[in-house]
Amino acid sequence: MHAEVIAIGSELTSGANLDTNSQWLSVELGQIGIPVRFHTTVADDLDAIVDVLRTSVARSDVVLITGGLGPTQDDLTRDALAALAGRKLVLHQPSLDHIRRLFAQRGRPMPERNRVQALFPEGSEPLPNPVGTAPGIWMELSRDGADPCRLAALPGVPSEMRRMFHEQVRPRLPRGDQVILSAKLNCFGAGESAIEEMLGELTARGRQPDVGITAHEATIVLRITAQAATLEQCRRQIDQTKALIRERLGSLIFGEEDETLPEVVVSLLRTRNKTLATLEMGTDGLLTHWLAKADPQREHFVWAEIRRPFREEELRRFSVIQCYEKRCGVERKISEVDDRMSRFMKEELHRLRSHTEADLTLAVHLPRSKTAPSTSPDQPAHVVLVAKEIERAVEEPTAGNPAILVPRVVKAALNHLRLHLLAMTK
Ligand code: ATP
Ligand code: MG
Repeated sequence: MHAEVIAIGSELTSGANLDTNSQWLSVELGQIGIPVRFHTTVADDLDAIVDVLRTSVARSDVVLITGGLGPTQDDLTRDALAALAGRKLVLHQPSLDHIRRLFAQRGRPMPERNRVQALFPEGSEPLPNPVGTAPGIWMELSRDGADPCRLAALPGVPSEMRRMFHEQVRPRLPRGDQVILSAKLNCFGAGESAIEEMLGELTARGRQPDVGITAHEATIVLRITAQAATLEQCRRQIDQTKALIRERLGSLIFGEEDETLPEVVVSLLRTRNKTLATLEMGTDGLLTHWLAKADPQREHFVWAEIRRPFREEELRRFSVIQCYEKRCGVERKISEVDDRMSRFMKEELHRLRSHTEADLTLAVHLPRSKTAPSTSPDQPAHVVLVAKEIERAVEEPTAGNPAILVPRVVKAALNHLRLHLLAMTK
């Protein structure tokens, strides 16, 4: 058994809005064991919609449609369904009464146009919408030599669609013999391929549960997908695989599902009962913005300073000590210690600490040039952490994709703080 999901609306095909309904419905279908093979997005165009529906009904056992059930002329889902099935649209009086009642409750007469929302293809079943004017449509379409295709059309408004799926559609759907469940582990501190190597056979194709890797702004996401007879079995399989991954990746994993690095840092500050002050230079205030969002009451993130980064000529003041080694007559640079820069930042953090009385202080500096965020790939970013118990400075390379340089460096700073907090006893 396979399903497909169709999103209808020119606001979606034009790119003005993003289709999130199909994403949500596909996760729900997976959980009742109906895998989704196709997503289609189609404009408010009758011929195009009928065309898509014809293809879908022929190849899928379950077809879910969202959008195009409104009262306006560009809402064509019900006409398309009637055309597809070769049936007339007929009035469903209880739906018309419901729509009239909704308008009466809002103290307004029902516009004549809304009457179309009570029209249904003959032989279909109306799906009541307790909160909106657009009822859904349930149809079973017979197919030569196959079981009938079950089809549901739901309103585009996500909150109405979700409720109606749970209350009206899910109970009508057959159950697959396998259910699908996914979980996420979020990592930071190593690249996609390094992590894949550490995971070894866990990422092999066809493994149960399947482990997939994706990267977003230097955060590496591991998605574990299990298929089994029951949700309980899926959960057990996922937990076992999570444990294996945790053994191999250790503190590279910072969170699960939609947890972000700043949220994890703030929750560690909370459990350790610590306060934090920050100084950022060259990162557009991103560190402040993320931490402020994660700690809206500012219970732990108590102070933020944002300054411009040093200019190139200023940076030259922080002379770089370069170490060379000579091997087989060839001189090679082996290390570079931007010592004065980190000393300057440490001094600033000591000042911040005595001024704000924060337990921990964190500074990040990302050099900038006229042409790119980073002066040159040789010019590293600096992350410095100062607390009563430690004083630590690290350099972060600035080579790599310039489009994600700022979030990557800010995440690196947050990650140093996270690792320090993890090592602290509660
Ligand atoms: P109806 O809600 O009566 O079915 P409709 O979906 O055509 O009609 P629209 O005015 O197009 O109504 O959409 C209503 C709201 O639902 C809009 O805010 C729109 O962005 C949102 N919406 C529609 N389709 C989707 C979708 N696939 N994903 C996310 N949001 C959607
Ligand atoms: Mg629409």
